[in-house]
Amino acid sequence: MRQNKIIIITAPSGAGKTTIVQYLLQQYPEQLAFSVSATTRQPRANETEGKDYYFLTKEIFQQKIQDDAFVEWEMVYEGKYYGTLQSELERIWKTGKTPVLDIDVKGALHIQRRFPESSFSLFIQPPSVKELQKRLESRGTETRESLEARVNKAAYELSFKDQFNYTIVNNHLEEACRDAERIITAIIA
Ligand code: 5GP
Repeated sequence: MRQNKIIIITAPSGAGKTTIVQYLLQQYPEQLAFSVSATTRQPRANETEGKDYYFLTKEIFQQKIQDDAFVEWEMVYEGKYYGTLQSELERIWKTGKTPVLDIDVKGALHIQRRFPESSFSLFIQPPSVKELQKRLESRGTETRESLEARVNKAAYELSFKDQFNYTIVNNHLEEACRDAERIITAIIA
């Protein structure tokens, strides 16, 4: 029997993960679909319910944990839950497509352990922690404390890179997109 596949894209914050995910979805609209996660964080101005996330209250999220509705969930940031619903994977598989998960490193490790045969993971690596710090600084969205926290978290997350199926070093975003595309082409062939 053909097993339903799962593609996981993971990376430390600021490594260019979301851009690469969007690029892959554009290249393969018939084969891939974005796995919409559930979260308890507030929607941002440009985000749509059911497209970017399923925005849930903490109570409903916790109920779903009790009901075993998640294939993985994490408190990615202090007090904010994020998780992949089994029903979301089923929804995508039913359309004949492969779900693409944009999730943090811990969540990615969980999915890998749970679906060792059918999951394929790509780790997007920033060129160096120093470069990542520079990128986050130039983005200008961080306070000194939050920048330090993100850089420390990234260094920690980088230590897991060997546990993923593929690693892409993101020196140049366009090249990294094409590298990812080559890997995905082989996976979905
Ligand atoms: P943001 O709040 O910026 O949308 O996402 C924050 C982080 O949470 C990102 O690293 C994103 O990949 C991760 N994330 C999004 N959805 C999930 C999920 O379902 N599970 C896990 N473990 N992480 C997620």
